[in-house]
Amino acid sequence: MKNKNYDIIIIGGGATGSGIALDAASRGLETLLLEKNDFAEGTSSRSTKLVHGGVRYLEKAIKQLNKDQFNLVKEGLKERSRLLKNAPHLCSKLTLITPIYKWWELPYMFVGLSLYDFVSGTKGLGRSGIVSRTKMLDKFPVIKKDGLVGGVKYYDGSFNDSRLTISLLQTAKKQGADCRNYCEVTGFKYDDNEKIIGVEVFDKVNNEKMTFEGTSIINAAGIFADKVNELDEQKAKKMLDLSSGIHIILDKKYLPSNEGLMIPKTEDGRVLFILPWMGKCLVGTTDDPTSLSEHPEVKENDVEYILRHLEIYFDLKIDKSEILAQWCGIRPLVAPDENADTSSIVREHEIRENKSGLISIIGGKWTTYRKMAEQLVDFVYKTQNKNKEKCKTKKMKLIGSKKLNLEYISEKIDFDTNEYLLSQYGDRIDAVLSSVENIEYLKEGEPYTNAEVIYTIKEEFVKKPMDYLVRRCNVALLDKNVSLEILDGIIQIMKTELIWDEEKTKKEKEEALELLNNSI
Ligand SMILES: Cc1cc2nc3c(=O)[nH]c(=O)nc-3n(C[C@H](O)[C@H](O)[C@H](O)COP(=O)(O)OP(=O)(O)OC[C@H]3O[C@@H](n4cnc5c(N)ncnc54)[C@H](O)[C@@H]3O)c2cc1C
Repeated sequence: MKNKNYDIIIIGGGATGSGIALDAASRGLETLLLEKNDFAEGTSSRSTKLVHGGVRYLEKAIKQLNKDQFNLVKEGLKERSRLLKNAPHLCSKLTLITPIYKWWELPYMFVGLSLYDFVSGTKGLGRSGIVSRTKMLDKFPVIKKDGLVGGVKYYDGSFNDSRLTISLLQTAKKQGADCRNYCEVTGFKYDDNEKIIGVEVFDKVNNEKMTFEGTSIINAAGIFADKVNELDEQKAKKMLDLSSGIHIILDKKYLPSNEGLMIPKTEDGRVLFILPWMGKCLVGTTDDPTSLSEHPEVKENDVEYILRHLEIYFDLKIDKSEILAQWCGIRPLVAPDENADTSSIVREHEIRENKSGLISIIGGKWTTYRKMAEQLVDFVYKTQNKNKEKCKTKKMKLIGSKKLNLEYISEKIDFDTNEYLLSQYGDRIDAVLSSVENIEYLKEGEPYTNAEVIYTIKEEFVKKPMDYLVRRCNVALLDKNVSLEILDGIIQIMKTELIWDEEKTKKEKEEALELLNNSI
């Protein structure tokens, strides 16, 4: 039993929960965040890695003359600008180009994308422009040449989602938040008036039951928000619709340029992105109604869909065996309210309060996590009848970015490792490298070292091999085979650092292998 009374207890350590933890702690609230698995193990490590206002949403806003939809795009663009300033080691400007195969599409796309610039206002990242056919072929040598007219370029942001979660949590921790992974909320505690006053928790690593008390309890459980809600109201109405999306990773040779391709409308009306990400080519995504799953599997027909579409836009055939890694994420979409007239209301996220006082925040997108957190903490102040402290996150630099020098070179490592560590850890690069006396590489030709594993165990909440492989160094999202090759080395380091016995070591290896081979 832990008796401390928190001002706010947050359930869920993805983008939404981590953003709330930082906002709340930086306003001076006693904050506890509980995550049942690893931080960002849910949807928040499985995005398309775009910080965006949403070009397609803008098209919809204009076609439907919908002001709410328009405001959402504007808000997304404002948050895009903040993210790029507050975490520059993890978020950067990205040029995206739409290939054009019909002459009449050129002015249509150009005007549309110029409008996207216009909506960005002073927060814009650059002006859209037309790219000639010759330049398109230079930048994208494998693009379909037949009928190619040219392209239209525009700008958005690219980011590292799982590492941003960690940076948010480290910053929240520095502001006083208590953030714990592998702690599942299994039930609630109530007072005599049936008001919620605490959470029952199972610590999965230490096999321990605990109780924490808090004034406001927040359900930020992403796709599990309905499940958490049912712990409070057994017959609660479903809040979410779930939709899955996959990504595949290919060799950089398919996208040698640092610019990405945006296919605005595939044959069935979806958007397809072909993006540079961490030295590889990321392709996605799909959008299919799905059911709840902790580690959703990538379906063969979704992979075939993506490969089939690559064949429409690329002058070559890509074999499934060339896929280096693949993963699936589930979107927590706000379910339409059947009783209300919602035709004109567009909401990406919502805050709801139960009779017991449980507050749920549902929906949203990564790009707007900060705004969602600000609104949620404002709401908490209202329910607690407290004088509101002003939100402090608009200009708050996240851990890794305060003294960032992207030109920094350490003599302890080779150039590629230096570049990799700077882009992942920013100004913490020296702290990573000083975790060990002798730096040892886990595999020749790859930037992963013993120093990084030990640093992430000590400073970044790593408790299991997959925490490091998927969500700290991201190698499992990039190349399954490399992950399998370095797994033993990581397990040996973890065995020593976390004092595992033989049985625990064997179990952790089996668990990691199962996930690597099936669904990360
Ligand atoms: C395919 C795909 C592509 C996307 N691309 C983009 C993009 O490019 N840009 C963008 O802005 N957005 C994108 N999104 C949206 C974005 O990823 C999500 O909106 C965001 O990650 C949701 O974060 P979350 O914190 O709400 O959910 P999650 O990340 O799922 O976090 C919820 C957490 O709650 C935990 N939890 C659940 N139950 C409990 C419990 N009982 N106790 C403790 N913890 C619990 C879960 O384990 C989970 O980690 C994409 C989404 C998908 C699926």
